[in-house]
Amino acid sequence: MKKGLIFALALIFGLALLIGPSPFEQNATAGKTIFVTIGTGGITGVYYPTGGAIAKMVNKKRKEYGIRATVESTGGSVFNINAIMSGDLEFGVAQSDRQYQAWNGLANWKDKGPQKDLRAVFSIHPETVDLIAAVDAGINSLQDLKGKRVNIGNIGSGYRKNAIDALVANGLDYKKDFHAESLKAAEAPGLIQDGRLDAAFYTVGHPSGYYKEATSGKRKVKFIPITNIESLLKKYPYYAKAVTLVTKFYPGAANDQDVPTFGVKATFVTSAKVPDKVVYAIVKEVFDNFETFKNLHPAYAGLTKQNMLEGLSAPFHPGALKYYKEVGLK
Ligand code: GLU
Repeated sequence: MKKGLIFALALIFGLALLIGPSPFEQNATAGKTIFVTIGTGGITGVYYPTGGAIAKMVNKKRKEYGIRATVESTGGSVFNINAIMSGDLEFGVAQSDRQYQAWNGLANWKDKGPQKDLRAVFSIHPETVDLIAAVDAGINSLQDLKGKRVNIGNIGSGYRKNAIDALVANGLDYKKDFHAESLKAAEAPGLIQDGRLDAAFYTVGHPSGYYKEATSGKRKVKFIPITNIESLLKKYPYYAKAVTLVTKFYPGAANDQDVPTFGVKATFVTSAKVPDKVVYAIVKEVFDNFETFKNLHPAYAGLTKQNMLEGLSAPFHPGALKYYKEVGLK
């Protein structure tokens, strides 16, 4: 009897903890400083400085909004979406294809189903899917990856699936045809220089520290064209043809021409559980000070307020929508 009572109390208490407002939600309504964390990617990517740029915009008005944003280096898109859904992060940067898959319950979310609380805030810079290889490895096409050591990306990354899609479109199986590594992007350039990797995939905006590092070492590195992608473009609505401006951004690469490939967009996402006023404040600071934001990274060169509302699959967060309606963008 007593045991039963203790059990019942424990259950009620446990349930209250589960369904009560989180400390984050309590602060958001009590007028205390609200701490939000933005999930990004490896520190040599563009997500990390992007998280920094967004945090910088909103932290400038810390007194006015009572919001303090910090940035976390993470494994990338898939990690960020999952951490936002579990409440471990409030915001994150994620590839547009990953946002589409999470919202629709595809790819990494096939078993878990659609991520119904995922919300779009805005989209950011374009990203290309690239493959680099050491020149001395004799790799000139995806076919030449056979038997080589190739990084296809860590599980939490967005780019791993892009690499696999490109391989499949070219009739290659990463489990059979070569030695696939599942390393975080930041590790790959160093391992190529050390001779422990022959090639590596990555999906990122340009210019990035990753490719600057990869193309400025002793071992010469080049970008490999990613072709035979027509089947991908037909099958997946989120992929588009693209060109990587290698000659402009990475003069150290052993390419004398820009390289054809396909690409996606980086997007900024959150959860339906994050209060409207927090999302509104971030969007307002970025859009009201658009030129300042645009100057924070060269990858933002092509951004317009209009195209930052494109390429999104999850519904807009109401806090973001409120701002877009106020200024006539929606
Ligand atoms: N697109 C990459 C990913 O989600 C991250 C790129 C970056 O950090 O800039 O895996």
